[in-house]
Amino acid sequence: MTVDLVVRNCTVVTAAGRVPDAGVAVEDGRIAAVGRPDHLPDADRVFDADGSVLVPGIVDCHIHNREPGLEYKEDWESATRAAAAGGVTTVVGMPNTDPVIDRPEHLELKFERGEASAHVDFQSYAVVTSENLELIPEIDEAGALGFKIFLGSTVGDVPPPNDGEILEAMERIRETGKRLGFHEENGEIIDHYTEQFQAEGRNDPIDHSHSRPVIAEQEAVERMITFAEETGAKVHMFHVSSGSAAEAVARGKERGVDVTAETTPHYLWFTEEVMRETGNPARIQPPIRDAAEREKLWEVGIDGEAIDCIATDHAPHTPQEKKVDDPFGNTWDAISGFVGLETEVPAMLTFVDEDRLSLEGWVRRHSTRPAQVWGMYPRKGSLQVGTDADFTIVDPDREWTLEGSDGLHSKNCVTPFEGESFVGKAVATVVRGEVVYEDGTVVGDPGYGTRVDVD
Ligand SMILES: [Zn+2]
Repeated sequence: MTVDLVVRNCTVVTAAGRVPDAGVAVEDGRIAAVGRPDHLPDADRVFDADGSVLVPGIVDCHIHNREPGLEYKEDWESATRAAAAGGVTTVVGMPNTDPVIDRPEHLELKFERGEASAHVDFQSYAVVTSENLELIPEIDEAGALGFKIFLGSTVGDVPPPNDGEILEAMERIRETGKRLGFHEENGEIIDHYTEQFQAEGRNDPIDHSHSRPVIAEQEAVERMITFAEETGAKVHMFHVSSGSAAEAVARGKERGVDVTAETTPHYLWFTEEVMRETGNPARIQPPIRDAAEREKLWEVGIDGEAIDCIATDHAPHTPQEKKVDDPFGNTWDAISGFVGLETEVPAMLTFVDEDRLSLEGWVRRHSTRPAQVWGMYPRKGSLQVGTDADFTIVDPDREWTLEGSDGLHSKNCVTPFEGESFVGKAVATVVRGEVVYEDGTVVGDPGYGTRVDVD
């Protein structure tokens, strides 16, 4: 038997363990075999991984691809080019585009654009607002991966539903079997402090952080868990930034609520001092927290397993919107969010190098669990025979520094990771058996990526 592709000469690592000196065989875009070299068939193409580590493709369930409507920031092509270059094989786009993804037609438009130009596989959430509760079954039928509610005002000015509408949304979404995720910050607390700080002339980047205190996040997590306990809905906490919010998630899990959570590399890497050192380019919502909250996020979220998934919240904006030329200027004129697709694997591998987590623990949180949480497993997030041949091949020992982030592949590349040093990098990315990134170059074709179908 001769298959299409064999990747050999690598250590294969999954969430369950590792096999040194192994390889993977691919036929028709699916995994045909995993194992020692003498157990692998001949192939039309042999990819020598040169002693690297091969893991199931990284699944990033939180990116802002910005298309349709905000293509001056990013589009499907550029976002998924960055994903391929970062070792990410599946991305899920957020719904705060223009138009917002709040009805089947808008979701279909977003899927069409992705089919035309994506380099890696993709999906999308739909947003729930005050105005589309009755459309939830139709949006589900149209193939959305899951649903999102923005609590309080956020980037894109999506009107937040009130608590009654959220309860009703949970009941309707429970019927679909899908999961509902939140931007979980209490908008009334944030609006209060934002107005107060602005009146007092507190305009520094760190003031933006302090206008969104940890209690705003923790309270929102607890309220949504209480609602989920009442309604039986499956819920997810996007971008958990603090140890206190991770503790709230842990309490929900202990009560038997089906609550999952993600955090991002930037909350695990930086402390709020980054706002004093880097300023507005590091502005994000929720904000990067102080050292004590970061430590607790590691202890409760990672070591204690309250956090299921790693994702980026990749959120490109132009340098003007990020006030790159005036990083310590009036923060209320700056926008929140920055790119992350090409630094998430290096950041997590750096944590592995520092013994903060194992390779297996990284794979579980950055591939397997995201796929499970959002209903894409085992097609994504595993190396099971017969599933999609998505691999991320990494050099866990590669030392490098991000210098000149304009070398990244997004349309706009502002990131607080500029100047940071890493140990580890993606060296090749394989999507359904096709090498889409290799040796520093995106080699796949736009439009190769396809929507991940879910029931
Ligand atoms: Zn986001």
